[in-house]
Amino acid sequence: MPVICWFRRDLRLTDHRALYAAAEASAGAVIPVFILDDTILHDGYVGAALIAVTLAMLEALDHDLQQRGSRLIVRHGQPLAELQRLVSETQASGVYWNRDYLPYAIKRDSAVKHWLREQGLQAHSFHDSVLVEPEGLKTKTEQKPYVVYGSYVKRWSELAYHQAEQLVPAPSKFVAPPSDLASLPIPSLADLGFELQQTIPQVGETIAQQRLAQFFDRRQKLSVLKYTKAREVPAEAGTSQLSVDLRMGTISIRQCLKQAVDLLTEPLNAEQRQGVDTWLKELAWRDYYTQLIYHNPYMLNGSLDPRYDQIIWRNDPSEFLAWQQGQTGYPIVDAGQRQLNQMAWMHNRVRMISASFLIKDLLIDWRWGERYFMQQLCDGDPTANNGGWQWAAGSSGPSAQPYFRIFNPIAQSKKHDPDGQYIRRFVPELANVPDHYIHEPWTMPPAVQAHVGCVIGRDYPAPLVEHSFARERALAAYRTALQTND
Ligand SMILES: Cc1cc2nc3c(=O)[nH]c(=O)nc-3n(C[C@H](O)[C@H](O)[C@H](O)COP(=O)(O)OP(=O)(O)OC[C@H]3O[C@@H](n4cnc5c(N)ncnc54)[C@H](O)[C@@H]3O)c2cc1C
Repeated sequence: MPVICWFRRDLRLTDHRALYAAAEASAGAVIPVFILDDTILHDGYVGAALIAVTLAMLEALDHDLQQRGSRLIVRHGQPLAELQRLVSETQASGVYWNRDYLPYAIKRDSAVKHWLREQGLQAHSFHDSVLVEPEGLKTKTEQKPYVVYGSYVKRWSELAYHQAEQLVPAPSKFVAPPSDLASLPIPSLADLGFELQQTIPQVGETIAQQRLAQFFDRRQKLSVLKYTKAREVPAEAGTSQLSVDLRMGTISIRQCLKQAVDLLTEPLNAEQRQGVDTWLKELAWRDYYTQLIYHNPYMLNGSLDPRYDQIIWRNDPSEFLAWQQGQTGYPIVDAGQRQLNQMAWMHNRVRMISASFLIKDLLIDWRWGERYFMQQLCDGDPTANNGGWQWAAGSSGPSAQPYFRIFNPIAQSKKHDPDGQYIRRFVPELANVPDHYIHEPWTMPPAVQAHVGCVIGRDYPAPLVEHSFARERALAAYRTALQTND
C-alpha cells in the first residue's frame, strides 16, 4: 500500500528522514505531497521573496522526483482536509512528515495525527529540521528549558555532533503515484497574489549542495576556514549563504553539520579550526531560537521578558518609512536596508546594526521591524527572525545583548566596513564620498559635498536623529519600563 510523504519545510530528497522511512515502509510507493496552505500564504507575515523561493524549490523538487520516475502532487487548501482527500483517493496506509516546532504547525500536525489514528492509519513524524529537538535539551538539574544561549550551546555540542553520523540517503527506488492522481500545477507568484520587487537567489537541492560544497572548499578564498573574521565583513561573501536553503530544507542541517565535523578531523591551524567551530555555533543559534519559541510561544507576539512590553515606543511612521527605504542618513543602516530591499537578504552584522538602530535610535517597536524583515527576507524564519529582533531589543531575558549595550552605528560602520565598500555598493549616491567621510557624510564640508556631487539634504538625507541623543533617550525609555515593572 502506498504511503504519503507530506513535504513542508524540507524540500529535498537526500537525508530526508520522513521520506526515507516512507520509502522503506512502502517499497518506494511514496506519494510525495505539498499543500499550499492559505493560512500561511495570506497571514500578512510572509512576503513575496520567501514565497517565490519556495515555488522555485517546489519546481526543483518536482524535477528531481521526475528524474527518479515519480512526481510531486500539489494541492491547495486546508492541510487536514487535503490530506483526508488524498488518503481516500490513494488508499494510502498513512502519512509521514518531519516535525515543525512552531505553534501553528504543532496544532495543525496534531489535528492530522489525531484524525489518522482515529482512522486506524499510520501517522509518523520525524526529528529532522534541527540538530537537537526542543524537548531534547533541558537544564541538567531542574530539567527546565534553556534561556541563556551560552549555557545552551555547551550542552548542545555534546548532543548535536553525533547527528553527523545519522544521515540517510535519498530513496533508491520510487514507484510513481497513480497517473490519474490529480495534482495542481505549481502556481506562479502572481497566481497567489504576490508581486516580487527583489532579486532572489537560485535555489533547489542541487544548488544548495553546491553552495555547501563551495563554502567547504578549502581552495576558496573565503571558505569556512576564514569564517571567524570574514563573517564580520559585510562587503565580502564570507558566510555560507545557506540560510535560504536551511529555511525551506533544500539542504539538511545534518549535511551541514557533517561537512563541519569531517573538516575538524583534518589537520587545521588554530584560525581554521576556529572558523569551523564558530560556524557550528551559528547552527546552534538556529536550534536555540527554535527551542526558545517552542517553550515560550508567546514570544511570537511579545517580549520573552514581558517587562519590555511596557516600553513606550515613539513609533513615528515617517521615520519607520525612512528606515524601510534606507533613507535614515546613516550609511551602514541604509546600505543594509537597501540590500534587503534589492536582494531579499541582508548580512548578519548589518541585520544587527539595522535592528538596533530602529529599536534604540528611533525607538520603534521591534515587532514593526521584525514584521518588515519577514516580509522582505527570502530566508525569513519566524524563530531566527524573532530571536534576532529580541536579541537586538535586549528583551530576551538574560540576553547576550543587554538593553544598555547600544550599538553606535558610526563605530560599527567604521569597524566592519572600514573603506565603505559595502556602503558604496548599496548607496550609490555616496560612491564618490571620500573614505574619511563615508561613515558620517553629514560632516563633509559644503565644498566637498559639492565637489563629490553629494549634497546632504538633497542627494542623501541628513541623519534622522543624532546618535548620542537617541542613545540617552532609549536608555531612559528602557529604564522607565523596567523600573515601573520590577
Ligand atoms: C534582526 C535579525 C533577524 C534575523 N532574521 C533571520 C531570519 O529570518 N532567518 C534566518 O535564517 N536568520 C536570521 N537571522 C540570523 C542571521 O542573520 C542569518 O541566519 C544569516 O545572516 C544568514 O546568512 P548565512 O546563511 O550566510 O549565515 P552563516 O553565517 O553561514 O550561518 C550558517 C547558518 O546558521 C544559521 N544562523 C546563523 N546565524 C544565526 C542566528 N543569529 N540565528 C539563527 N540562526 C542563525 C542560519 O541558518 C545560517 O544559514 C537574523 C539575525 C538578526 C540579527
